[in-house]
Order: sequence, then structure tokens, then C-alpha cells
Amino acid sequence: MGFAQEGFSALSRFIPNGSYARDVVFSGTEISIQHSQGVPFRIYTLDAPKRLIVEFNAVTFAGLEEAVFTRSQSITGVRAGALKSGWSRMVFDLARPMLVGSAGVTVAPETAQAELIIRLTKTDHDRFAATAKKTAAQQTVVTTPRDASNADQFVIVLDPGHGGIDPGAVVGAAHEGDLMLSLAREIRDILRKSDGVQVHLTRDEDVFVSLEDRVSTAHALSADLFVSLHADIVTDGQAFGTTVYTLSETASDEATAKLALRHDRGEILFGVDLRGADDEVSGILIDLARLETTPRSKELADAVVDAVLMEFGRVNSRPIRHANFSVLKAPDIPSILVEAGFMSSKQDLEKLKSPEWRTRFSRALVAGILDWYLSDAALAPLRRQ
Ligand SMILES: [Zn+2]
Repeated sequence: MGFAQEGFSALSRFIPNGSYARDVVFSGTEISIQHSQGVPFRIYTLDAPKRLIVEFNAVTFAGLEEAVFTRSQSITGVRAGALKSGWSRMVFDLARPMLVGSAGVTVAPETAQAELIIRLTKTDHDRFAATAKKTAAQQTVVTTPRDASNADQFVIVLDPGHGGIDPGAVVGAAHEGDLMLSLAREIRDILRKSDGVQVHLTRDEDVFVSLEDRVSTAHALSADLFVSLHADIVTDGQAFGTTVYTLSETASDEATAKLALRHDRGEILFGVDLRGADDEVSGILIDLARLETTPRSKELADAVVDAVLMEFGRVNSRPIRHANFSVLKAPDIPSILVEAGFMSSKQDLEKLKSPEWRTRFSRALVAGILDWYLSDAALAPLRRQ
């Protein structure tokens, strides 16, 4: 029985030409599914055995060849067919646990031909099991085709610490503020090479910017991510190596209280206008936002530490820390403060001053950010429930 007889008019054909799966650095695996016209689709994973399920409403699959997709090391087999519901399904057998980092359709204006691009990122078995659906009926993500020009941008705000009248740590001729600006510019240049990434600096010259303005900048730009860069001096002990801070739980509560008392509540959370809300309601909304953001900030800190560790073989002996830093207090933007090294450590200072080291560090930081971004995006549909 054909789809036409079941009354489906929006039927799309799978187009073998241009469809592929390939393994790419950073992103894991990319799958392209060409079809004759855009139709609603949904994507999820299933465990035991590990599979990626892609469903369309609806696509026919004449001419589908498994070999096009099994060129990727991550995919061991592909099948496709019609479902009773009128939807049609593609099943990709996965060689390893993978998360859906992103998925989106672009439609060619001249031909109306649609391309679904799915990016998969490597993960571990536990996280795969946590995100995989128990049954196909639960947690279905339905996305309708959208134009490529409206594709979401991943907005990163880099915050070089200090500047202007506040040089930060000073050791000899080296100023923390200057070193962090150089580092931020280098990270920006690397990030700009990634598609779909927008990068902004809270300062791009040697000027003073208040902590509050740094956070406001991130809000004004609707940032998805805020990374503050420092290399402070520690007076007690002999700290060295990269350390990443997130806002501490107790600090979160105080910050929530302080933020809720502010006059310009509209700035605090996007999407929710808190002006006119009483303090109690504001506090609850900010708590809810933070409930979601706190674990995401921690995941980000982990990803960055992992990437730096992978690049240099070592980080600070206690690389993940929590503190009450003002720049980390945006309740709705995952935020970390990276102490690239400590200027009070002679060996760290030499590294921070070295352009070669800064390049390696920048690349590692970018790898960590992109790793986090892909796995964070995969969890987004679950958070919205
Ligand atoms: Zn600093």
C-alpha cells in the first residue's frame, strides 16, 4: 500500500545523490539526508542496541543504499521503511554511544529540495543511556523545516579580565589584563572559523569595564555562553595550572537575592519580563533559571578542564572550583571563570607570556567549548519538558 492511498499529500522522496555520513574532527559524525521536499521530522536515540532513529512525515526511500552511510565509523547499518502512523523511519545502527548535537533542515530556494543535517557527538554509555528513549512514544522532538538563514547562532561572550585602571595581577612588566586580552583575541579568532558561532569580547582594548557591565553585555547579546579569562596571583600556597570556576551553590542563593532586588529586572532573564513582578516571584523565576543553568555551567567547566588536560597532560591539582564571583552571576547563561594559570607561579607566568603556549591553550579551550556545546544541545529537548 502506498502513502498516496493513505491520504498523504506532503510526500517527499529520499534522494541518494548528495546524501552521506562522514566522521569529522570535533563534531563526531555528520549525516546528510537529501529529500525532494521539506517535511516534519523527529530524531531520537534508542539503547540496547544503540540506534539513531530519524522519522519523517513522510519520505519514501527508493534508492537508499546502506554503503553511503556506513562509510562513517560510527554507523554499522541503515534501514528504512514506512510506519503505520503515516510517518516513515530511518534506523542507523551505531557502533558507539553518540548524542544528537544538532539537527536542522535547509531547503534550496530554486528546487525546494531539502537537506537534513544531523551532527552526532561521541559520548559515554551512561550518558547515552540517560538520553536514549525507552520507547518511541516518549519525548519525541518534532521539528518543522526552517530556512537556513534563520539557523540559530551559538553566541559566545569572552570576557578578558581587568583592563584600564585595573591591570589585574602585575608581575614585572606583565599585566594580567593585557595577557588576557591577547588570549581572548586568539580564542575569538579560532572560534570564528566554526560555522554558526558568533563571538564577542566584553572589551577589545585596554579599558576598564565594570563586572556588572560584563554580565550585561552577555545578556544584551543573548549569549549562550560566558567565559571570563583570568590569571590571578595567589598568595597562599603555590598554586599552578589551569583552574575553572563556576558559581558556588551558596553564592547562587545570595546572588539570587541580590539580583531580585535590582531595579532593572528586565535585564536579568530573557524571555521573562520581571519588571513589575514582586520580589518573591522574581526570586522564584531566577531560581528556576539557575536550576537549569548551574549543571550546564558545571558540565562546561568539566569539558574545558578535560580539553586542557588532553592538550597539556596536566591542570591544577584541584581544577574545578566554585566561588562567589560577580561575573558568574547571570542566572540564565552558563558561565565559567577560567584561571588559565597563576601569575604568581614562575612556570605559569612563562607559559602565559609565550605566544605558542597561548595558541595551544586557546585551541584546547575551543575544543572544550565545542564539545560542551554539542552535548548540551543534545540535552536541550529534554530540559524544555
Ligand atoms: Zn584576574
